[in-house]
Amino acid sequence: MDTVLLLSCTEPDGSLPRAALEALSAARAAGGPVVAGLLGQRTGPAAAQLAAAGVARVLSAEAEALAEPRYGTDAAAATALARASGATVVVAPALSRLARVAAGVAQRLGGRIDTHVTQLSAEGGLQVTRWYYRQRIEARLSRAERPWVLLVDPGAFPAASPGAAVPAQVEQVPVELGPELQRTRVTGLRAPTSGEQTIRPDARLLFVAGAGWTKKQADGQAHPERAGELILGFLRASGASLGTSKSLTDQAGEGQKVLEFMSHLNQVGQTGSTPRHPRGLSTCCHGEEPHVVGWRFIRERRAVNLDPGCGWARGKADVLYVADAFQVVERLSALLSAKS
Ligand SMILES: Cc1cc2nc3c(=O)[nH]c(=O)nc-3n(C[C@H](O)[C@H](O)[C@H](O)COP(=O)(O)OP(=O)(O)OC[C@H]3O[C@@H](n4cnc5c(N)ncnc54)[C@H](O)[C@@H]3O)c2cc1C
Repeated sequence: MDTVLLLSCTEPDGSLPRAALEALSAARAAGGPVVAGLLGQRTGPAAAQLAAAGVARVLSAEAEALAEPRYGTDAAAATALARASGATVVVAPALSRLARVAAGVAQRLGGRIDTHVTQLSAEGGLQVTRWYYRQRIEARLSRAERPWVLLVDPGAFPAASPGAAVPAQVEQVPVELGPELQRTRVTGLRAPTSGEQTIRPDARLLFVAGAGWTKKQADGQAHPERAGELILGFLRASGASLGTSKSLTDQAGEGQKVLEFMSHLNQVGQTGSTPRHPRGLSTCCHGEEPHVVGWRFIRERRAVNLDPGCGWARGKADVLYVADAFQVVERLSALLSAKS
């Protein structure tokens, strides 16, 4: 039986990222005893969360030098935690910070890595599932080599909830984080285009804004400014993550006056992303197959479209509201604001 290390970084306040609690569920599915390894400037709150979720042994690499994500220091800390744990399987959430170092950590450990893991099963030896070729082929893999590092996609597992709490046993793991590992420094953050952060992988709702937002409306005019205000207002009020269609993304690329906070990173679909949110609301988007294929993992789907014959009406959405999205989103934002 494999010993499993749940490896995670901590948030600036020392807590666990939500994706780490999902990775804990994944680690438990591997069937063996689970040890946790935390790296960051502060790890105490995260260790307490893990103890509340029933993880008895927590290894910690806590240092000022781990306040900012950086390949040299993060890889050294993660490798030290994996070695100290003696684990044969390392499960980590595919957060950008950990995804950046995980392959290097596997190399340093003399192990192997698989990424985009969506399921783990302990039946007949450890097996993992992942998708290939833009989510068209699902494969189940096993490996003889150990340690086996597994990056788990956020949204694929339910977050482990507080259960049978155990007393926290935190062991500090010494890590050498000398100046030669700290040559890279974070001097600031620059967000794309308008500076508005619209992609929120942890959001409960995916809000898709399609090309209809920029098309001529009933009065014969296009209203892109109003569309932008409504979309951003809804995102702020709801905390949703913003997705879009290829048509809208391409308009921006061709220099047309469109919604300037949209980039190709928001595009959902065959040539875009396949996000994992529990719910999705599509607006002003036709719901064509190359777009909807990116909704594969969205469990509850609703759409707002003026056209009762749009793609969403053909079995692609649970509910289609045949309505003007400008009116619907304005009303929704007003209701959300009143509630908060
Ligand atoms: C190889 C290939 C790959 C592709 N990959 C992708 C991909 O990854 N992602 C993707 O999205 N597309 C992809 N496409 C394009 C896809 O086929 C569609 O062309 C695209 O998704 C259409 O975008 P849309 O629905 O936003 O725009 P449109 O097709 O222009 O639809 C706009 C919709 O808005 C509605 N509307 C307008 N005004 C309102 C209003 N006031 N209220 C409510 N509804 C309104 C209209 O009724 C219409 O249904 C791909 C195509 C190909 C050929």
